[in-house]
Amino acid sequence: MSTQMEMTCETVWHNCLKLIKDNVNPQSFKTWFDPIKPIKLENKVLTIQVPSQFFYEWLEEHYVTLLRKTLKQELGPASRLEYNIIVENSGSGNKPYTINVPTNSAARTEQNEVGLPLNISTNIKNPFIIPGLKKINIDAQLNPNYTFENFIEGDCNRLARSAGFAVANKPGGTAFNPLMVFGGTGLGKTHLVHAIGNHIKQVNKNKVVLYVSAEKFMSQFIDSVKNNNNNDFVNFYQYLDVLIIDDVHFFAKKEKTQEIFFQIFNHLHQSGKQLILTSDRAPKDLKDMDERLLSRFKWGLSADLQVPDFETRVAILEHKMYTDGITLNREVVEYVAHSIDTNIRELEGALISLLAQASLNRKEIDLDLAKQILKNFVKNVSKEISIEYIQKLVCDYFGISIDQVKSKTRKREIVQARQISMYFAKDLTKSSLKTIGMHFGGRDHSTVIHACQTVNDLMETDKKFKIDVEELSKRIKINTL
Ligand code: ADP
Ligand code: MG
Repeated sequence: MSTQMEMTCETVWHNCLKLIKDNVNPQSFKTWFDPIKPIKLENKVLTIQVPSQFFYEWLEEHYVTLLRKTLKQELGPASRLEYNIIVENSGSGNKPYTINVPTNSAARTEQNEVGLPLNISTNIKNPFIIPGLKKINIDAQLNPNYTFENFIEGDCNRLARSAGFAVANKPGGTAFNPLMVFGGTGLGKTHLVHAIGNHIKQVNKNKVVLYVSAEKFMSQFIDSVKNNNNNDFVNFYQYLDVLIIDDVHFFAKKEKTQEIFFQIFNHLHQSGKQLILTSDRAPKDLKDMDERLLSRFKWGLSADLQVPDFETRVAILEHKMYTDGITLNREVVEYVAHSIDTNIRELEGALISLLAQASLNRKEIDLDLAKQILKNFVKNVSKEISIEYIQKLVCDYFGISIDQVKSKTRKREIVQARQISMYFAKDLTKSSLKTIGMHFGGRDHSTVIHACQTVNDLMETDKKFKIDVEELSKRIKINTL
C-alpha cells in the first residue's frame, strides 16, 4: 500500500518506458516516446503529455496495446491512460493550449489485444464520428441547402443575419459569443445557424464544427451516463471549435443536462471557441433555466427573427421559385404572401401545395385556383387587410415607392396616393386614426381625417379619380375572400 502511495507519475512512466524500450526499435522509441512527458497520476489514471494531435493519433494507432499492457503491469488492471494534447491555436498570437483525451475505452481492450486495427475515431465516443477514418473526423451535421445565399434578408432578420455573418467570418473572434438567435417557429433560426456553420466550413474546412439539437444533445448525454462514458461525451464536446445548439429552450427543467452544458460552455468559451444557440424566446424570458447559464447566454449577442413583412415574404417566395425553377404569376405570388403571414415554413408549404396541385391537374395556377387551394391549406385565409398591404397595392398602382408615400413630399401624385391609402386604411382596417397616421411617416389624426374627406370629395367631382379608386378597391378586396 505504501509503495503505491509513493508512486509518482514520473516513476510509473519511467518503468513503463523500460518495458517499452524492449519492445520497439530504437528509432521509433526516440521519435515517439522520448518527447512524452508524464504529468499526472491520479486514481490509477496516468496522464501523459504529447506534443500534438498527430502524435496522439499515431500513438493510439500504433502503440496503444503496448502502452496499455505496460501500464497494467505497473498499476494493475484498473489502470487507465489519458493524453494531454498540446494544441496549436490557429488564431495569430494565441498561445497553444491543451486538451485531455482518454485512450480507447476498456470495452475495446479485448479487440485491441487480439490485434484488430485501431481506429482513433472510436476513441471519443460520439455518434457523429464517421467510422473508418483515421483522423478525428466529425461530421458537422450541416444541411448544405441552408446557406446565407438562400437566406433572404429583410427588416425582420437584418440584425441576426449580419451578426451571424460576422460570426461566420470570425468564429470565436467577435463580441458575439455566444450568438443567440431567437424567435417563433418557422422564422428561420435553424436555417440561419446552419448557414453560419456552412460558411465556417467553407472558409476553413479544418474548423471542427458541430450542429446538434438540444434534444439530441440531451439524449447523448443520458446515453453517456448509462454507458459510463460521460467523460468521453464531455471531451468530445470540448474538442469542438464551433458548437451550434438548436432550440436550447428544450433544456428547461433538465437540470443535469444544463449542468453538463454549463461545463462545456465554459470550457469552449474560455478557449475562445464559438457558441451559437437558438431559442424560441429571448434569454430573459427563458424559464426553468439555471441562472448561471442564463447569464452566460446574455454574454454575447441575442438577436431575434421576426415575422417577415409583405415584401420580404414575396422575395422569399420568388427566391424559392427561382431556385426550384418554377414560375407563378405575380398576382398569385402576392396573394400567397398576403394570405400567409404567420411564418416562413407555412409560406413554403403553401407554395408546395400550389405546385403539387398544379402538376396534378396539369393546369396553370391562376388566382382563383390559388384561392381554392389555399382555402384548404390555411385555417383563415380571409383576414384583415393591413395598412402596409394597402400601401403596397396603392404604390404599385401609381408606380411610386412606399418611402415616398411616407415622406413629407407635397408632390401632387404622391399626395394623392397617400390620401387614397389613408382612405382605404380607414375604410378597410380597424386601425385608429392615430395608428394610420403613424404608418404614414408619423402624421397626426387630423391629417388622416382630411385625407378621407378629400378622397370622398374628389370621387364625386373627378371621374378619372373615381375610376382609380374603384379599381384599387377591387384589387385590395380580391385578396380577402
Ligand atoms: P425555425 O428553426 O425558426 O423554426 P427554420 O429555420 O426551420 O425555422 O425555417 C423554416 C423554413 O423557412 C426553412 O425551410 C427555411 O429555409 C425557410 N426560411 C426561413 N427564413 C428564411 C429566409 N430569410 N429566407 C429564405 N428562406 C427562409
Ligand atoms: Mg428550428
